[in-house]
Amino acid sequence: MILAALLGLPASASELPDLGESARATITEAQEAQLGGEIMRQIRGDKDFLDDPELVDYINSMGDKLVAASPAPYRHFEFFVVRDASINAFALPGGYVGVHTGLISATRNESELAGVIAHEISHVTQNHIARMIDSQKGSALTSLAALAVAILAARSDNPQIAQAAITTAQAMSIQSQLDYTREHEREADRVGLQTLAGSGYDPAGMATFFERLQANSRLYESQAPAYLRTHPLTYERIADLQNRLAEMKYHQHADSLDYQLVRAKIQASEGEAIDAYKRFKVLAGSDQADVAIRYGLVIAALRAGERDAAVKAFAKLEPELQASPMLVTLAARLRMEAGQPGKALEILRAGVAKYSSYKPLVYAYARALLSTAKAQEAKRFVSERLRWWADDQNLYRLLAESDHALGRRAEGHLAQAEAHIRLDQPALAMEQLQLARQAGDGDFYTMSVVDARLRELKEREQREAKK
Ligand SMILES: [Zn+2]
Repeated sequence: MILAALLGLPASASELPDLGESARATITEAQEAQLGGEIMRQIRGDKDFLDDPELVDYINSMGDKLVAASPAPYRHFEFFVVRDASINAFALPGGYVGVHTGLISATRNESELAGVIAHEISHVTQNHIARMIDSQKGSALTSLAALAVAILAARSDNPQIAQAAITTAQAMSIQSQLDYTREHEREADRVGLQTLAGSGYDPAGMATFFERLQANSRLYESQAPAYLRTHPLTYERIADLQNRLAEMKYHQHADSLDYQLVRAKIQASEGEAIDAYKRFKVLAGSDQADVAIRYGLVIAALRAGERDAAVKAFAKLEPELQASPMLVTLAARLRMEAGQPGKALEILRAGVAKYSSYKPLVYAYARALLSTAKAQEAKRFVSERLRWWADDQNLYRLLAESDHALGRRAEGHLAQAEAHIRLDQPALAMEQLQLARQAGDGDFYTMSVVDARLRELKEREQREAKK
């Protein structure tokens, strides 16, 4: 899929603005955002793009907290999770930051994870990507496409994909621009450390994680993890970090329960289902068995098809149910899988009342309403939440399902089109809008919106064709 994405890239990159000769010293923030949007469109279609709302919510909450303490608190950022066991995180143009599940799993505390993400955020706030593009004079357009290719390849530990992409990149003479320079690394460390400390995490987290990564890198031999490839880690860098740390106040940070649950969820989903289940069974039998380990055991048991064991393991979590909304969604999931959707709905209704702004619960509740034939209630609930989160494509998808369940075809297709528009998929959106026109059951208001949307998309198509 990545290969397909790579082949598609030069074509879509031709939609990028002409940067002119050397009129501009650096690409503008708007151009960087457009390039990032193009790359994200490829990545969203990748099978390893993880749309688990709980992981997405967690990583964005952490990211937002760090950005608020960064030198560019108002800049656009979006954080996403990639299902990949290798240790990596990467920043794309436009403030899109990808985090591998393998990184989350390998961190020993929350401040270590925050440290790596703060470092990535700093590459964006310090305009390192724009500077990389800028240092590539001449055929700016080609270098943008090549850079996109190289960034996609850099995130992969699959040697074949990396090789193909690197060959492409080399042909466009960009490879030397792929890796951050030592100067960029030092700056990202320095700014990242300030950001980390400013947002309340333990600033030592960044150094301890990098030290361990470097100590372990000898074990990888020729197969150095992608992170070390793109962010060259030197003894000098680690010494720099330690010197700065020595001048900072010690700041203890207790891991949030959500961090522990997210990490357990990832670890329970890694490798073979039966191995993960056995691993968590051993951990749960030990003295240190805490909420996160019990939670991981339930997830691993469900994955291994051991439903009775999952229910039994969850019984020990029941008293902690109020500690995190992630436990509420798990309780509902168990009821759902046991064929008790009514019970699941009750649990979720109480959960939504308590954690009204936690999106994963909102989605789960809407889904439970749909699976208990309460489409009317689902439509009302989702429409209400769309007033808070008008950019949420998941809510539009749920709205489309509600409409279709109610037999309101035109509205269903319009809602589906709105979801595609938010995912930057104009062709699919137009298809849905045409279906909405053909449906013949839309009222005047719905059809006016359909026509307006179609006009907007067609104008956009013409603008891009001209370019
Ligand atoms: Zn770096």
